[in-house]
Amino acid sequence: MNAEQAYAELVQHCKETATLRSCADLLGWDERTYLPPQGASHRGEQLALLARLVHERLTTPRLGELLTAVEGSAFTHPAESVSAATIREVRRTYDRAVKIPASLVQELARVTTQAQQVWQQARKNNDFASFRPWLEKVVALKQQEAQAVGFATVPYDALLDEYEPGATTGEITRLFATLRRELTPLLQAILASGRQARAEILAREYPVDRQQTFGQGAAAAIGFRFDAGRLDVTTHPFCSGIGPGDCRITTRYNPHHLNEAFFGILHEAGHGLYEQGLDPEHFGCAPGTAASLGIHESQSRLWENQVGRSRPFWEHFYPRAQELFPQALADVSLAVFLFAINEVKASFIRVEADEATYNLHIILRFELEQALISGDLKVSEVPGAWNEKFRQSFDLTPPTDTLGCLQDIHWSGGGIGYFPTYTLGNLYAAQFMAQARQDLPGLDDDFRGGSFTRLTGWLREKIHREGHRRSAGALCERVTGRPLQTAPLMAYLKQKYESLYEVTV
Ligand code: ZN
Repeated sequence: MNAEQAYAELVQHCKETATLRSCADLLGWDERTYLPPQGASHRGEQLALLARLVHERLTTPRLGELLTAVEGSAFTHPAESVSAATIREVRRTYDRAVKIPASLVQELARVTTQAQQVWQQARKNNDFASFRPWLEKVVALKQQEAQAVGFATVPYDALLDEYEPGATTGEITRLFATLRRELTPLLQAILASGRQARAEILAREYPVDRQQTFGQGAAAAIGFRFDAGRLDVTTHPFCSGIGPGDCRITTRYNPHHLNEAFFGILHEAGHGLYEQGLDPEHFGCAPGTAASLGIHESQSRLWENQVGRSRPFWEHFYPRAQELFPQALADVSLAVFLFAINEVKASFIRVEADEATYNLHIILRFELEQALISGDLKVSEVPGAWNEKFRQSFDLTPPTDTLGCLQDIHWSGGGIGYFPTYTLGNLYAAQFMAQARQDLPGLDDDFRGGSFTRLTGWLREKIHREGHRRSAGALCERVTGRPLQTAPLMAYLKQKYESLYEVTV
């Protein structure tokens, strides 16, 4: 088989696999938005069948033959070319897929489905004991998975690689240690400042239909295309990039709180802009695929926080908010509103955390899951270890496991190695934004005028269109000239909070 034929077949194979997968994505989106409850069981059958077909295509020996035929050919040069990136990523996912025995894949699917159900009840009843045997099973299976996949330094690397290809445990450990060291004094200064935001203004009446209008308008303003996407309602918001021209975002509305839906929509629209910005020509291949979960999260955090919680953004949007929600906001000044949406507070729940405390929640989980996978921490010791670490970070002890180690769905679903991508996303977002400000002087004036096209265009060109031609770390170096660092995020946080809380750190 010559390399030309092999490469053409390889690309065709990838595109068809991605198309099949997009059918599952669409069914998955429907399952979480409009599926009538009685249809759940049949939907499960549909998704299981598609998952099996996708897995067969990812592990077919034919793929191995095609890879052998193209590796070492001219298609692998230069390293960042479309063909080289495509081949490299197919090799990575193929190796990973064939190394994990089918029996382990099935067992993981079976155990995590049940573990998630048990976890839901356990969280509701504050009953870690009932969840413990299931978490033990999940951890044991993930340890087996890590051994099967193989790793350079520690088993956790093998799990991390699924979500953040190219990142290593060692590198993240160093980055997070620096971040924690720098965040702690900032947080202490904020909490000791005595300044209080009027958070209650966000918990007034915000009619749902008006929130819909407001959120949809903001998503459109930052560039989310509604002729190539949708916004619907769900319980746990997500973004699903079905394929070229079709990206679905979701949110949930709380009539007694503005933040949840509004910042949720900005967040998901940020993910959506990334999906809509991928090159459709390379759908199914690395250059038309997201670089990593960390990069994906950087796009959502950039819009939600770096832009969406900034003063210039609200100088444009606040008059509109006051018009739409006169009862809630007519007597509230912009300064009071800005302080409220940027309030810092030590809280037990990660998803409710602000920008100053959020990453400490992630670092705690990153440390615990590494210890679980290495065997240094037993599952039975998780509640105690969690509470101890929480106390060290926040000087608070969770009163229940529901507010502690039972709060997140990730571990029950087998998503060990996923958490660090959230903080990597925050770090990448800050570093990208600092670079965008350098490359595009006067960005804040754009925002004040309600224009986001220069920033969206910059992100599209520098990040979205690059897809996964290179690793997340290499993409960051290419865009910003430096490897990922904590300095841009810390500079951003200090600037914001020193003025809001009148502290100096
Ligand atoms: Zn996200």
